[in-house]
Amino acid sequence: MKNYIIHHDWKIVEEGFVPEHNRISESIFSIGNGKMGQRANFEEKYSGDTLNGTYVAGIYYPDKTRVGWWKNGYPEYFAKIINSTNWIGIGVTINGEELDLAKAKVLSFKRELDMQHGLLTRCFVAELQNGNQVEVCSHRFVSIAATEIGAIRYTVKALNFDGELKVTPYLDGDVENEDSNYDEKFWVEVARAVGGPEGYLTVETLKTGFQLSTGMWFQLLKNGNKVETDITNGEREKYIEASQSVSVEKGDEIVVEKFSSTVSSLDYEKELLPEKAKEAVDLAVEAGFDALFESHKNRWLQKWATSDIKIEGDVAAQQGIRFNIFQLNQTYSGEDERLNIGPKGFTGEKYGGVTYWDTEAYCLPFYLSTAPQKVARNLLVYRRKHLEKAIENAEKLGFKNGAALYPMVTINGEECHNEWEITFEEVHRNGAIAYAIFDYINYTGDKEYLAPMGFEVLLGISRFWSQRVNWSADKEKYVMLGVTGPNEYENNVNNNFHTSYLAVWTLKYTLEAIDYLKKEFPFLFEELVKKWKFNELNETARWKDIIDKMYFVRDEKRGIFLQQDGFLDKDLTPVAELPAEDLPINQNWSWDRILRAPYIKQADTLQSLYLFQENFTTEELKRHFDFYEPLTVHESSLSPCVHSILAAKIGYQDKAYEMYLRTSRLDLDDYNNDTEDGLHITSMGGTWMSFVMAFGGMRVVNNKLTFNPFLPESWKSYGFRIDFGGAHLEVNMKHGEFFIINHSSVVVEATVWGTEHKIAGNSTLEIKK
Ligand code: BGC
Repeated sequence: MKNYIIHHDWKIVEEGFVPEHNRISESIFSIGNGKMGQRANFEEKYSGDTLNGTYVAGIYYPDKTRVGWWKNGYPEYFAKIINSTNWIGIGVTINGEELDLAKAKVLSFKRELDMQHGLLTRCFVAELQNGNQVEVCSHRFVSIAATEIGAIRYTVKALNFDGELKVTPYLDGDVENEDSNYDEKFWVEVARAVGGPEGYLTVETLKTGFQLSTGMWFQLLKNGNKVETDITNGEREKYIEASQSVSVEKGDEIVVEKFSSTVSSLDYEKELLPEKAKEAVDLAVEAGFDALFESHKNRWLQKWATSDIKIEGDVAAQQGIRFNIFQLNQTYSGEDERLNIGPKGFTGEKYGGVTYWDTEAYCLPFYLSTAPQKVARNLLVYRRKHLEKAIENAEKLGFKNGAALYPMVTINGEECHNEWEITFEEVHRNGAIAYAIFDYINYTGDKEYLAPMGFEVLLGISRFWSQRVNWSADKEKYVMLGVTGPNEYENNVNNNFHTSYLAVWTLKYTLEAIDYLKKEFPFLFEELVKKWKFNELNETARWKDIIDKMYFVRDEKRGIFLQQDGFLDKDLTPVAELPAEDLPINQNWSWDRILRAPYIKQADTLQSLYLFQENFTTEELKRHFDFYEPLTVHESSLSPCVHSILAAKIGYQDKAYEMYLRTSRLDLDDYNNDTEDGLHITSMGGTWMSFVMAFGGMRVVNNKLTFNPFLPESWKSYGFRIDFGGAHLEVNMKHGEFFIINHSSVVVEATVWGTEHKIAGNSTLEIKK
């Protein structure tokens, strides 16, 4: 845990240069626009410890799998979002010495990320070894208005010297991934061109053949006037540069404005890429830094207008929640159905930057409530497009008849994960994907999504469940053997409650979808029956039998469902009684000890109770929470949010707040000592969920909004914004007063603390408590 980020409502601020914090800050200050993003690396050379990272959504490399012991069914590769051409580089040489903060004396240093406007600023004063002092300020953004463009305004002021200052803006495609399995470089050069202030580099990924063209253009200004000295170009494989020198006197201010463009073969024919990179650079040059920034800033203001959360009375909490929203909006914009949300987004290499169940389980609700409907829909369409691959994936494992098993980790629909207990057994992910369809329809009312996309996915998943269970003659029930639930501290267990519950639920929901299609789209349904060789009578008969006779392990004495067979045989000493030095257990205990212990990595049984809370009484929820929460170590960042929501639901407000705090500043305070690897982007969706669903008590049941809000004691008020049913609502809670402002002309119905209300267009519902 660290505590060096300065609290501020809208900004993330770091003062003073601590090289040991550099990798952490590079993650925290990352910027992106849904299409590309980068860690907050320095423009000038830095020979100290750094993780260089520039990432382009959808561009990956299939890094050959490395495992100790190969198991049949393992994937050949792990898809990695790869470090790509560095376009931010600007070498700075002062009187012959290169500026490098690892070598210079850093006299002052401040990094600031303005979340309201999406601007990264870094200012410092440094003294070089030759005694020359400079004040440097860089302003940088990756445009969310013109998503192929990035811009930098880099100012250098000569504080105590006269002489020569040389700047060398460059593009460097000769980059690598630290996590490369075989120390390979993933890029080869296709073309390069450089002349004057302008340069282009086209590179191609090995194996996958993605091409990326990056362009740059710069200008140099001295005290506001353009410098017209000669520009010298340099180049080598995968690298181009342009250098310009200018004489300076003490007090002079030199500005480098550098624009870049990044275009790829995901969007254009390969032959056109250099031309497209040039067009985008030309557009940027024509607009200029200020106008580009203006449109970018305005787009950010629009995003905040639909997604902001305000907290009065707690700046740290305010900064925390805005940081989560900011990063989610930087990672995924929902414009391209081929893209998804990697657990680290564009902020690091870990997890390969590819898709996990995290998207459906933790991120979908945020985009459903704060972005246009198509954004969440595109997340669903992404999975529909991978259905055929999910069927192939299941076939490899021996399933038949169109059963679909979605991968644990994927970028293109193929499984990338390679630990048998997760790859083959953590099948609850299929349930999360099915549930997401329900979630989307329940929230938006867009039931037509079932015809046919939603239905096709549900059918594949139901077929999987129906083959994954088997009949136990002994129990006279269906059982599901050899699975891993969300709690990865238990592997290869039988009858995991969460997985079995989701399986039964999927079967029921698919039956409902069939009824709907038969009624509303009979012809389409007939076509789907043929297309998928669906034997409705036989298949649904088996589903119904499973629904009726699924086995769930119960402890009647405690009145709870058990996480899996045999759970009560464990030594149930609560986490609170473990010696503090044992935590986190994943760093201090052997795996064998973890597996035998009762400690739960992340919400597991409680994950289903959160999803299906309407199916349980408050007393039942309480009994489960009281049993499982004391055994949960929350060693996945995805865990506390679910506990927070359930705690609020059963009236444990302090617990809800405590759990919320564990997620909201997870990265800003480097809570788990791993922020240097990148940010926990998907868990940020969980933080948003816990705010709106725990404090706001928001729940959508049958396409109707309900709220059961409460205000944490230490706050004065909070307010969040959601889009619902075509209306834009601002939901506010103060001590003793709850109100919803309807900023649209649509009438909205909402149940607040059990009473139904109608909120007329452009009006406010106010309720005193
Ligand atoms: C969690 C998984 C999650 C993955 C990526 C793991 O630590 O246990 O549930 O999908 O991280 O975020």
